[in-house]
Amino acid sequence: MEKTLRGIGVSPGIAIGPALVFDVGRFEVPEYRITDTKAEWARLARAMSAARVELEELHRRTSKELGEVHAGIFNAHLMLLDDVMVLDQVKEQLESEKLNIECLLARVTRQFQQQMEQIDEARFRERAADLVDVTDRVLRHLLKTEHPDLGQVRTACVVVAHDLSPSDTVSMDKENTVALAVDSGNVTSHTAILARALEIPAVMGLLNASNHVQPDTMMIVDGTLGIVIVDPSRETLARYEAAKQAYSEEQVRLRHALETTPGKTRHGVPIETQANIELPIELAHSRRAGAHGVGLYRTEYLFLNRGTVPTEDEQFEAYADAARALVPFPVTLRTMDIGGDKFVAHLQIFKEDNPQLGLRAVRFCLERPDIFKTQLRAMLRATVHGNVQIMFPMISGVQQMREVKAVLAEVMDELREAGIPFDAKVPVGSMIEVPSAVMLTDLLAKECDFFSIGTNDLIQYSLAVDRVNERIAHLYEPAHPAVLRMIDMTARAAKKAGIPCKLCGEMAGDPLYTELLLGLGVTSLSMSAVSLPVVRAEISRIHMGKARKMARKAVNLATASDVLQLLDKHAGERRSIHPSARDGASHGL
Ligand code: PEP
Ligand code: MG
Repeated sequence: MEKTLRGIGVSPGIAIGPALVFDVGRFEVPEYRITDTKAEWARLARAMSAARVELEELHRRTSKELGEVHAGIFNAHLMLLDDVMVLDQVKEQLESEKLNIECLLARVTRQFQQQMEQIDEARFRERAADLVDVTDRVLRHLLKTEHPDLGQVRTACVVVAHDLSPSDTVSMDKENTVALAVDSGNVTSHTAILARALEIPAVMGLLNASNHVQPDTMMIVDGTLGIVIVDPSRETLARYEAAKQAYSEEQVRLRHALETTPGKTRHGVPIETQANIELPIELAHSRRAGAHGVGLYRTEYLFLNRGTVPTEDEQFEAYADAARALVPFPVTLRTMDIGGDKFVAHLQIFKEDNPQLGLRAVRFCLERPDIFKTQLRAMLRATVHGNVQIMFPMISGVQQMREVKAVLAEVMDELREAGIPFDAKVPVGSMIEVPSAVMLTDLLAKECDFFSIGTNDLIQYSLAVDRVNERIAHLYEPAHPAVLRMIDMTARAAKKAGIPCKLCGEMAGDPLYTELLLGLGVTSLSMSAVSLPVVRAEISRIHMGKARKMARKAVNLATASDVLQLLDKHAGERRSIHPSARDGASHGL
């Protein structure tokens, strides 16, 4: 019987297909006595070399598709495969207890896992998870259980899972995996980021959907609205087939329109529209979508899923590649924003009670100048390969901006001394995403070449609503008048100082807010590449004079619903002038 589930739409689009229920690692490990310990040890060696072949292949494939930096996780797994401490203990117990090898391997790993989890440090918890992942791979070979390899899927399917690890996600068959429906996770989880990067519709945060979906049940995933329909009726199926067709026709139409309306308002005012990227693969997507460069490169993703900090050269390659690929457009390299909900296992991030208010972004960088300076060196070296800009996240005031700029100046001096070329005039900007920075934008503007408003965090910090907490998601209101006044204040200060006021939070990718943002004085919008066509189309319908008037009205309204009513009214008027306009569906911020 048809059932509709609501989750969080993390990657837009509609897909229909039978469910592939991905249930990893839930297998029984038997325990029995053995006599030939040598034969048992040889069985383990064979299983380990089979696992090694798989990991090497995964490393090769990921490196090709997503870049070497993201393939690093499999190198970490390969190292764990040889963990001498685990193997020594397994061997000892094999000799003394004469039990089957899979039972001993599972037991020893569990002991190590428990010890590591007791240490109150993220890197040990993540290392424990990696150890279990690798051991499961070896156990599957010993027990000859089939690992549901998403890379081997040969017919189109919707992957339904309780949780999807990054290694499962990067290894899946991109042709046949038409959508993801996942119980856990949210917009900022790594799997969500990857789904968007790979342009696969996805809904996450479905709680326990995977327990109720039978394999091969027909599924509809609407990643734009965050809806999953299990076992749809014939009518629903027909309706969604039509919606899916309309969606892809609309994408084609918008892409085509992009070529003829390259980001200008109705009367020809050019508006810069850029892409946000996390993975190297997104460079191609953003170019295809006609982005005017990259307005936000979330460089912290280079630091995730690997056991070590990427070297200066590794980072330099990634930044220079992006710069070269985008010429003549700019790439805005944001220094790493780790901490908060983005833990990096191998960096010493201690468990914090309020991680969103904790040692995050530039706060972390100023505590670890070694890591920070390496990143800045790599960024500066990349400046001679294209049009590079550098941006700092989570700046809370003038003092902090001066501190990060002082480190940048130090690194410039070091490069100069070493005779390494770089562009000393590289534009340097501050993200505006902390309310205290908004209040000081008149002074901060003197320290910056540009502002970029990070509405994701600005909304979280100004309304005191944790952006990853589903239980208070209804309080997370981009249209809140206080948020609009903050954007207004920032844009005015930027204009007065003669610097661009960009915006790179999720609001930039929602056509519902385009007119309002331009009316408030935002000069450039940066978003996921998938949102570029619809936002560009919206820009082409906007009359700047009317947008400014509407924005003035909006900042004087009392509530978010008043603002939303005003936005609806204006969208309706634009649609009546341009009947071909899309619904302007919100991407569910
Ligand atoms: C933001 O906060 O709006 C932003 C763009 O940065 P992030 O989502 O990476 O915190
Ligand atoms: Mg932010």
